[in-house]
Amino acid sequence: MRHYFLGAAANYTRRQRWAHTFAIGRKKDCEDLKRLLEAKYGGEAILCKNGRSSLALALKAYFNRGDAIIVNGFTCYAVYEAVKAAGLVPIFADISRKDLNFDVCSIGAVLTATCSAGHEDSARAARSVPEGHAAVDTAPDKVKGIIVQNTLGNPVDIVAIEKFAEKHGLTIIEDLAHCTGVKYADGREAGTIGAATALSFGKEKSIDTISGGAVILRHPCKNAIQAPSKTPRPSDALRVRFYPLFGAMYRGLSYIHLNGALMRLLLAMHWVEKSADNKLDLTRKISKFEAKMALGQIRSLKRSGEPPIREFYLVRDRNEVLKRLEKSGYYFGGFWYEKPVSPERYYKKVHFDEQACPVSTEVAGKIINFPTYYSKRELEPARKIIKDYLEKEVDE
Ligand SMILES: *Cc1c(COP(=O)(O)O)cnc(C)c1O
Repeated sequence: MRHYFLGAAANYTRRQRWAHTFAIGRKKDCEDLKRLLEAKYGGEAILCKNGRSSLALALKAYFNRGDAIIVNGFTCYAVYEAVKAAGLVPIFADISRKDLNFDVCSIGAVLTATCSAGHEDSARAARSVPEGHAAVDTAPDKVKGIIVQNTLGNPVDIVAIEKFAEKHGLTIIEDLAHCTGVKYADGREAGTIGAATALSFGKEKSIDTISGGAVILRHPCKNAIQAPSKTPRPSDALRVRFYPLFGAMYRGLSYIHLNGALMRLLLAMHWVEKSADNKLDLTRKISKFEAKMALGQIRSLKRSGEPPIREFYLVRDRNEVLKRLEKSGYYFGGFWYEKPVSPERYYKKVHFDEQACPVSTEVAGKIINFPTYYSKRELEPARKIIKDYLEKEVDE
């Protein structure tokens, strides 16, 4: 069993870990975070339980039930869940190997395929599309929006996408889970372009307080939405509180191979929750102490100026590379993403059309990316191991 992602996901330094465990959040922290986000992104901010709930709120505000929306063909199940919760139909666009994002070509292809669905000569009609797949009965005028994800912190070609969106009357929503603080090629910051911006403060995200999220409504809403009003469940708050400590214990035990046992125990007791299982809930607020931690992280993001990019490589034999890394003491896992819509255990539910997104499907089988819980210096030898492997791969 490969468990390392789960527990190792708490990417705090030792000091931050203790700060998190004993943080006392106040109402003022929530107010300050809200104000900071509003100043940074321009709009009205609402703090949420997690990223998927923020994204669902954004979608509800700007789209109607039954609308279709274009989603990056290489993404997290959380995005799919948010789209579904808003009553929308996801349509996946294929990605490029270079930056793991869709581009105007692949979005255009999706739109035309959608346009010609029903025509006998269309490529999509000719393909056998799995039953239940969204695009089958989606008319072109149903496609109303596009979620920009900037995968692993790699920015999309925003100028081209904006132009395209304008031409086709699509509303842009920016999902900052991977890319808080990232700048587009033209110097504008991610999150300052779309009608709405959704942030996640989930495990291993660019702002990581274990859970939490926020939405910034930048344009006037089409539909009225309700801000969450209930306080977090005490059990959820406790789990979030102790996750970084468990993560540290887990990493310690990995050296004597007892980490799997610890993780099984924690999961069985429900003291730890897998990231993808964090429930979407539009009624619950963020924990105050999470707001406090997020506030600190967003402020220091500004100071360091370093965009949170997850370095990635595509390797032919991932298991072989992971084996080599483990031999040198590196426990990589939970690479984003092992399926075009991850994690694997939810993949079937999505009815993903692999033929429509061949690059996403290929990349999901080959990608390996650096976990955030190793320092830059620590990662140097790991980078060399992967590069050596890649050189040999070329020779073969
Ligand atoms: C993780 C993630 C989210 C939101 O995740 P939560 O766990 O709900 O905070 C949204 N979009 C992408 C692309 C993600 O990877």
